[in-house]
Amino acid sequence: MKIFSYTSAQYEHLPCNFCGEDNADTIATRDRNGYSVRTLLCRNCGLLYIDPRMTPQWYQLYYEQEYRHEMARFKGLNRAQTYTSEILFNHAKKRTKPFFENLRPYVNNGLTIEVGSSTGGVLAGFRDVFGSEVLGIEPSPEEAQYAESQGVRTIQSMFESLGEGVVPKAENIISLRALNHMLDFHSFLVWANKHLAFDGRLILEVMHFPNVVEHYGYLPRGIQIDHVFMFTPETLRQFLEALGFTVMTEGVDRKAEHMYIVAKKTAEVSAEGARNKKYTGYSAVRAWLNQTPSSYLTFLFKYDIKKKIKVLSYKIRRTLKHLLVLFGLYREGKRG
Ligand SMILES: [Zn+2]
Repeated sequence: MKIFSYTSAQYEHLPCNFCGEDNADTIATRDRNGYSVRTLLCRNCGLLYIDPRMTPQWYQLYYEQEYRHEMARFKGLNRAQTYTSEILFNHAKKRTKPFFENLRPYVNNGLTIEVGSSTGGVLAGFRDVFGSEVLGIEPSPEEAQYAESQGVRTIQSMFESLGEGVVPKAENIISLRALNHMLDFHSFLVWANKHLAFDGRLILEVMHFPNVVEHYGYLPRGIQIDHVFMFTPETLRQFLEALGFTVMTEGVDRKAEHMYIVAKKTAEVSAEGARNKKYTGYSAVRAWLNQTPSSYLTFLFKYDIKKKIKVLSYKIRRTLKHLLVLFGLYREGKRG
């Protein structure tokens, strides 16, 4: 088995995933963990994306071996947390019920598909709120099986590999906190257009890149290697409108670090989708970047130092304990 490491991973350069142009500004060279990650801004459509990025095989290894550990380090935790399917299911169901309740006026009746449906918690939450028929699409066999055990019908597959006609037309398609992680979000939006009935609803939730950057006052804080793409409300709206959708409503979550958007399908798109056209998205993102302060020192003293102290104090306590054990002053599991 291959072992994941950032240095041995293979990287690739690709043109802008949305418009297909290969002409971009470099806006950052580090991510929030300090890794060397280059972020580009497409000069045509305004898409923010990581380049070069890991190949699909290495992203797969990354998610299998490294992702949870990196998240734990980022949160200043001692070790990676493991979540059972049951915990993931219950957490997703609990989180999304009020989320969907809030979107009631914009949701259609009928078949509802989630792409990247994991253990089925989101769809279970959706079904509890609306009573609709739900269908998940999930590549992980364990997660798909768990969803089935909870009565959430799930096709174990990547959406890209599903043959013609396998999935019936849906009234709603959901993708929550997944678009940032996709390796080809343009294909997903084209797929969603194709698999929605006319007037069908696309419900998306993504990281609100400008809010995260502004909140922490440091551009790389909004960048993470698992987010291949980053969006602003303006660019996401533009991308949807270019692919046959009309935006109905949008908003942010409690911490304003994620934004949601509901759009309805108002036109069919070709497989070429949004490629080889001119867009206006660049200038707004460029203007926002130009007037947004980014300072590592501000970030360090306001936020990052707390985490660093937490990690350091854990290391000191652990070392002290090792020394006490070494000198026979402390025995593991017994006190006094
Ligand atoms: Zn572009």
